[in-house]
Amino acid sequence: MESPATVFPHSLMPWKTFSKRNGERLSYQVLKEVLVARTPYQSLEVLDTAAFGRCLFLDDKIQSSEMDEYFYHESLTHPALITHPNPRRVLIIGSGEGALLRESLRHNTVERVLMVDIDAEVVRACKEHLFAWHQGAFEDTRVELLHGDARAYLEETEEVFDTVLVDATDPLTGGPSYRMFTREFYLLAYSRLSPEGTMAVQAESTDLGVHQGHLSIVQTVKAVFPYVAPYRVHVPSFGESWGFVVASKSRDLASLTPTAVDQTLDRRGCRDLRFYEGQVQAHLFCQPRYLREGAHAPIITDSQPLLIV
Ligand code: SAM
Repeated sequence: MESPATVFPHSLMPWKTFSKRNGERLSYQVLKEVLVARTPYQSLEVLDTAAFGRCLFLDDKIQSSEMDEYFYHESLTHPALITHPNPRRVLIIGSGEGALLRESLRHNTVERVLMVDIDAEVVRACKEHLFAWHQGAFEDTRVELLHGDARAYLEETEEVFDTVLVDATDPLTGGPSYRMFTREFYLLAYSRLSPEGTMAVQAESTDLGVHQGHLSIVQTVKAVFPYVAPYRVHVPSFGESWGFVVASKSRDLASLTPTAVDQTLDRRGCRDLRFYEGQVQAHLFCQPRYLREGAHAPIITDSQPLLIV
């Protein structure tokens, strides 16, 4: 059930608050409730906030904001795509907003992008209310959109992809995504990738004190792929630095110098990025000691999943 948009007078502006895992709370002053709904999978809110413009919240947790979504989406897309020498077929898992479609389609090598998101209502809301994110990418003739559980899809398909981008919601207890953070899932993704295939995954917070999940995701991807590099991006609207992992079957991203990154982006036609570039990449992949020393972190499996309460 959707509620109609509500605009608040200044004196009555409410705050959208969400509790982070370390006992800290984040609050966003809300100018307007654009959409508040409950889908079969999660609660969904599109809110206009004073600090970050329009924001998408799922199960009360911010997914992205109009102000800084490109920090996140450019960083999740381009390392995996430039690590592949000729990415033609891209699979996007989750990523309701359509911003990963927008970024993947920039690469002039890309011929097909399949996006599998479990929640048709979230995608419908994003198409309607988050144009700044997808910028019409859903209508590109290279795009196919499917609704269903992405793991079930990968188990059934025989299609091969050059790059897989995993942008699922956090692995919440009882939520729809925790089976996409396990060794079994990464083995499945590996088996559907071409010989030089690459993968990038959203890999949870890297902030000190709540970084154990990130370290486990890194170790789990390392148990499957030969070349793995973790990195992190400070996302102001999240109030924390967010972790990602890029993995490849055949090539170490670290072997690309900042100049080579810029040249590859330029050759691919990715000329108007707002965040990601060679110099920034060098910064993102520079890890402090508490993140480098994670070899002991437990591997995540279907029987021992990573679950965030
Ligand atoms: N940036 C985000 C974050 O911070 O967690 C993730 C963004 S994106 C909106 C997450 C998407 O993953 C949602 O649209 C959700 O419906 C989708 N999703 C969750 N579980 C899924 C599953 N099992 N299969 C496919 N999509 C899934």
